[in-house]
Amino acid sequence: MIEAQPNTDQNQLFEVMSTMDHEQLVFCRDEVTGLKAIIGIHNTVLGPAMGGTRMWHYDSEAAAVRDVLRLSRGMTIKNAIAGLNIGGGKTVIIGDARKMKNEALLRRFGKFVNSLNGKYWTAPDVNMGERDMEFIKMETPYVAGIPENMGGSGDPSPMTAYGVYYGMKASAKEVFGSDSLEGKKIVVQGAGQVGKYLVNHLMKEGAKVFISDIFEDKIKSITDKHKVGVIDPDKVFEAEMDIFSPCALGASLNSKSIPQLKCAVVAGAANNQLEEENIHAEMLAERDILYAPDFLINSGGITNVYYELLGNYNKDRVKAQTSRIYEVTLDVFKHASQHKITTHKAALQIALNRIESVGKTKLGY
Ligand code: NAD
Repeated sequence: MIEAQPNTDQNQLFEVMSTMDHEQLVFCRDEVTGLKAIIGIHNTVLGPAMGGTRMWHYDSEAAAVRDVLRLSRGMTIKNAIAGLNIGGGKTVIIGDARKMKNEALLRRFGKFVNSLNGKYWTAPDVNMGERDMEFIKMETPYVAGIPENMGGSGDPSPMTAYGVYYGMKASAKEVFGSDSLEGKKIVVQGAGQVGKYLVNHLMKEGAKVFISDIFEDKIKSITDKHKVGVIDPDKVFEAEMDIFSPCALGASLNSKSIPQLKCAVVAGAANNQLEEENIHAEMLAERDILYAPDFLINSGGITNVYYELLGNYNKDRVKAQTSRIYEVTLDVFKHASQHKITTHKAALQIALNRIESVGKTKLGY
């Protein structure tokens, strides 16, 4: 489902929307601020569509449409499998954030979000931070991810890392028979926001942790605090390890990297880790490497903003909900082995079944 690539060159937008079954696309334009945004509402069966706003300097408008369609659909699946009562949506704002992002543009965008009367809720994504959400909030209540000291849920990365940690423990249980990570050799690719919080959990449990990043300062921020090994980014796939945790960019699992892997489990935070979803999920399974689906185990961040949407944000409630990733991950592995399908496909099926069954209940048939 996620892997479908809409052909936006056809100039047939309704046809394009139907390829991934989108409900609504909202084009937002403002002359004065230069705002060009597209809000993609993929599916609202479970509840209002929710997903972050990304600002990016797209090569073409077609590329922006393609991205918002792909990303909003991904949010439907992620929100469904995380057990949240929200549907999937996403926004892309076209433009260079360093040059164009300002209060006026964000507030104008906030007015567009407000005009949807709560059908879509936004939050931070690439090139958008908590401060930006504050500007959007000046125009609409339908925004989450504002700073904690303003009554919001703040940075979602710690909760994302917490969920990845639980997904990794479930994977260890499946493969090694115990969910303890003590003594396990774990390589974390990407020492960024999620990576650094994940390392805290792993060290606390006594894992042998190795990190890799393309920036020295990111490595240092972890080695200053923990006794971890460091691996050159070019050597990260070939290292002997028990668990590989991709926490950098997408598409790191591909036809070049998978044959090099020497691990039993892949469990990380990065979105869209599989370059070609079906092909590379199969390739991992053929190599007997257990893959914990990214959209499942990295859902702690969206769970965090979801509880802000509900009101009365409470971190303990979010942690309790996020730790359920452990059970759901085990369910996914069970479903995969019962139906002889990849874990990626199993997670997709479970998410889609939930949407379908709740949809039937809501419509009363
Ligand atoms: P980040 O930008 O803080 O960290 C990413 C790190 O990866 C950076 O330190 C970067 O230098 C490093 N990196 C880039 N290319 C690399 C390479 N080839 N080898 C090694 N390191 C490399 O981002 P983040 O917020 O920590 O998110 C990490 C991943 O998790 C992203 O894919 C993101 O989409 C996904 N994710 C994040 C959240 C969240 O709450 N932050 C939620 C869900 C998914």
